[in-house]
Amino acid sequence: MTDSTINIRSIQHYMYCPRRFALLEVNSDWAENAFVVKANLLHENVHSGTHSFSDSRKAVRSDIAVYNDMPEYDIFGITDCVEFVKSNSGSEICGLDGKYKVCIVEYKPKAPKDTPFRETDAIQVFAQKICADYVWHCGSEAYIYYDDIRRRVKLPFDTEYEKYDKMLKGLLAEMRLLLSKNDIPPRRKGQKCSGCSLSDYCFPKEKKYSVREIILSQKGAEIP
Ligand code: SF4
Repeated sequence: MTDSTINIRSIQHYMYCPRRFALLEVNSDWAENAFVVKANLLHENVHSGTHSFSDSRKAVRSDIAVYNDMPEYDIFGITDCVEFVKSNSGSEICGLDGKYKVCIVEYKPKAPKDTPFRETDAIQVFAQKICADYVWHCGSEAYIYYDDIRRRVKLPFDTEYEKYDKMLKGLLAEMRLLLSKNDIPPRRKGQKCSGCSLSDYCFPKEKKYSVREIILSQKGAEIP
């Protein structure tokens, strides 16, 4: 890892709001709200090990660290779940006998209403795929499992690889530029903030300016 190695998790923070990304990465601010806790509980359940098993057809493993240290990416992260499905045309996997097709499964609490998946979720999983392909010398498939509808959605990386690769490289370049400035950017125009757990850090509630209190304090009175 280098100083510029990026955690895949932070790509979504940046896409949601560059200011939020900088508050987390530059200021090390952190706060939880209901959305954060709900997602954390789902991931804790997946990462508890109960999702890891092997049968005659596949080996399923949760909580696997992956990375890609090629200079154009230089990223790492933890996958929710990786399924190694036996396949004669697959790759050899360290610790397993035979050859396997690699399938990444990312867990999300809630499916979007109007689209099969969110683009921000897809780019996170694409970054995991870039790592998985590098580590296991494979062309992995990728899915998002939505907990509320109990269904998995296949991501279109076989047909739209170039689009997602360009998007990922562009985002990583922007993130590194922002980190190199070591600064917190202003709120983006049109930024949606509902659901952001960092709003208290982002907009500290300052006491309103009061002429009465200034005059009283000049007279030596105690201001509550
Ligand atoms: S409150 Fe809004 S502007 Fe501030 S970090 Fe969160 S999303 Fe970004």
